Amino acid sequence: MRVGENLLSVAIGKDNSLNIAFSKGLEKIGGIHSIVEKNDDVFIKFNMPWCHGFPKRPNISLMKLLIEACKIAGARKIFLGTFIDDDVPFYIVSEMLEMGKIMENLGAELIFLDKSDYLFKKKIKKEQLKELKKNSYTLRKHENRTYQIPSELLKVQKFVIVNQVSPNPIFTLDLSMLNYLTLIPRNQEGKSTSLQDRTQYCINDGYKKSLLTTIFDIYSMMPSHLVINDLFYLQEGAGPCIHEDSQLRKTNFLVMGKNPLEVDFITLKLLKLDPESHEIVKEAMNRDMLKGKICEGSFLNEFDEDFRIPFKLPARNLSKIGTLNFYIKQGTSCSGCYLKAYQLLNLLKTKMNKDLKYIKKNWFVLGTNPPSIASWNEKQDNFILFGDCAIKTTLTYEFRKISKKTLKSMKKRKNKKILELAGCPPKIPECFSTLIKYFKKSNMPLTTLYIEMLNAIDFFKVRKKFREWEAL
Ligand code: SF4
Repeated sequence: MRVGENLLSVAIGKDNSLNIAFSKGLEKIGGIHSIVEKNDDVFIKFNMPWCHGFPKRPNISLMKLLIEACKIAGARKIFLGTFIDDDVPFYIVSEMLEMGKIMENLGAELIFLDKSDYLFKKKIKKEQLKELKKNSYTLRKHENRTYQIPSELLKVQKFVIVNQVSPNPIFTLDLSMLNYLTLIPRNQEGKSTSLQDRTQYCINDGYKKSLLTTIFDIYSMMPSHLVINDLFYLQEGAGPCIHEDSQLRKTNFLVMGKNPLEVDFITLKLLKLDPESHEIVKEAMNRDMLKGKICEGSFLNEFDEDFRIPFKLPARNLSKIGTLNFYIKQGTSCSGCYLKAYQLLNLLKTKMNKDLKYIKKNWFVLGTNPPSIASWNEKQDNFILFGDCAIKTTLTYEFRKISKKTLKSMKKRKNKKILELAGCPPKIPECFSTLIKYFKKSNMPLTTLYIEMLNAIDFFKVRKKFREWEAL
């Protein structure tokens, strides 16, 4: 959209050099001086998964360019931070990547919105944690919902999002708007309890609806001043944590603007995806946040057809992932279990492929009322029930019992080859530990190694402390 003679509210910076792509994009939206003023404190939000293959973590070269630009504009302080999904303490990931030191050398400060630096270093009592939580977050209401906003963020003058674009199994792409989910502490568990409620929750995909509500609520409380969708390097297919089914591409593109919805809209266009069928764009249009702007004439003139690059999407069907010796039976599930099952099956396939040869044959069951399994072998087959819905709605299924032959008759007894991965949805690190207990370490050497590496960095211990805090 043109906002002045030569200025755009969204722009594409494209060049073989990241430096030039950044300068070109920034110039088209008015330059850093139109965003950051002298003595502003700037907070840069980036996205960071706990499983951090390249390019999923932020590109440090881009961060450097952005920090330098903010300094040139006269920023007083520059902070960076994020929460991480799955209760993973940010401190663990930042230490592995030495992010604190890198940011310090660039003249910025890495902050721990989840206070994991504090939790990791000090012995702390439950009461002290409560006090820390009280002092770290400010309660803000939107409509009838209350959120804990990290107090540091409410003090800064400028809010910037740097988003590494990559495939997302439930939202197609990690778009900049998704950063609002990891700006606050968030309990990601599903809420429904009764079987009937649970089925309805799955049919309506209550999980995804609640994510969308949170995204738009936080967005309305924390509008951004600059948004960068980084697709300069882009991994397509299954995504950066899953190397086997992904391809790395260098597109040379950065999409930049002040409004994340516009930036995401153009990013989808650029990747030849239909923005108007994307849930976030649809939600924005329902709320009248984009419609008018898109209709304004020259919004897309900038984006010549030649610019557009086809993008290979993540699998939309869990069976298509092709995890060795895993046979999927999916009932009605919400996006919560779909997302975690997608991650678990892909991680098993990519990182634990050797283990899968020895653990056969496994029925992987998720969702409410999954289809019955006709051809199963009582003596050999394992049943992995993924998530509370699968556990609770299959209690009367045939596979729950197996036949026991006695001298006089055939009796039924409890099938012990059933592994329940509880949770709504289950958490991936705990799934790995439970899988090892069930299949035994000797049959899962790679998975065992993975868990032992996590134990070596006190991963589970610190997460337990996080839960006691009741903020995450
Ligand atoms: S158990 Fe899974 S499918 Fe069922 S409501 Fe929870 S997240 Fe959704």
